[in-house]
Amino acid sequence: MNRISEAIRQLHSTLPEGVELVAVSKFHPVEALRAAYDAGQRIFGESRVQELLAKQPEMPADVRWHFIGHLQTNKVRQLIGRTAMIESVDSERLLELIDRLSADAGATTRVLMQVHVAAEETKFGFSPDEILVYFRARRFENLKATHICGIMGMATNTDNTIRIRDDFHRLAEIKSEIARMCPDLRGFDTLSMGMSDDYPLAIEEGATLVRVGTAIFGERQY
Ligand SMILES: *Cc1c(COP(=O)(O)O)cnc(C)c1O
Repeated sequence: MNRISEAIRQLHSTLPEGVELVAVSKFHPVEALRAAYDAGQRIFGESRVQELLAKQPEMPADVRWHFIGHLQTNKVRQLIGRTAMIESVDSERLLELIDRLSADAGATTRVLMQVHVAAEETKFGFSPDEILVYFRARRFENLKATHICGIMGMATNTDNTIRIRDDFHRLAEIKSEIARMCPDLRGFDTLSMGMSDDYPLAIEEGATLVRVGTAIFGERQY
């Protein structure tokens, strides 16, 4: 647990101003989250609905929970009102469902649109074209109870730092392009990118939120 608090303090002292840390705690026990909390960490990222809901009552109420995994439509309802942010909105269908269920519950849900720029074909997310079309057509105007706060993405899983930097650069450009197209879009200021192996590069390319798991909690036991 000492290693966890040490890692949190280290990260908090090195992250530049304007960059927030999501401690990705998926597959780690609540004791590990408590160690991070006691070291000052408040944002935690989980990728499975049941795991997030199980950990939530075990942690202090001022924890901000970010959902970062692929969200199946049949599980959306359980998350409404329980997250500070759903970072992984990867389809319009999911977005509309989140919006409808949020409106029904009288809640507002803050989300990021997940954009896919990496080489892997299996990753979820809007393609750069799809996301630009979505905003150009101003389809967000139909949302009643959802606040789109920005975009989330991942770089290609490779050792090639040029490729990784390129992916992050592309995500940053997409976010700027959307902001340019829709200057009236308020609070569209979050760029979530960078994980344990590549967050320094992501920050150099403009990340405002980094999602770090292994570098804080160690390897996950699946
Ligand atoms: C697991 C996960 C992370 C954290 O990855 P690490 O390499 O352990 O830092 C970040 N983002 C998403 C979307 C994840 O699923």
